[in-house]
Amino acid sequence: MPVVDKSRCLRCGGCVSVCPQLAIRLTEHGIEIDPEKCIKCGKCVAFCPVGALKKK
Ligand code: SF4
Ligand code: SF4
Repeated sequence: MPVVDKSRCLRCGGCVSVCPQLAIRLTEHGIEIDPEKCIKCGKCVAFCPVGALKKK
């Protein structure tokens, strides 16, 4: 599952839209990924314009 680098994340919400599993939420604490929904497809990692998501 991808990990979020909160110091880089702009909270643009783009990764939320791109996730086919609806596994990503934008909360007041930033991006949260639901480990039970994520299928590790990497789409959010590829999408993020500032490289805030890293594949793990
Ligand atoms: S696409 Fe990147 S910068 Fe935008 S909310 Fe997601 S992790 Fe943050
Ligand atoms: S790796 Fe794929 S399924 Fe997991 S959070 Fe990113 S876009 Fe969603």
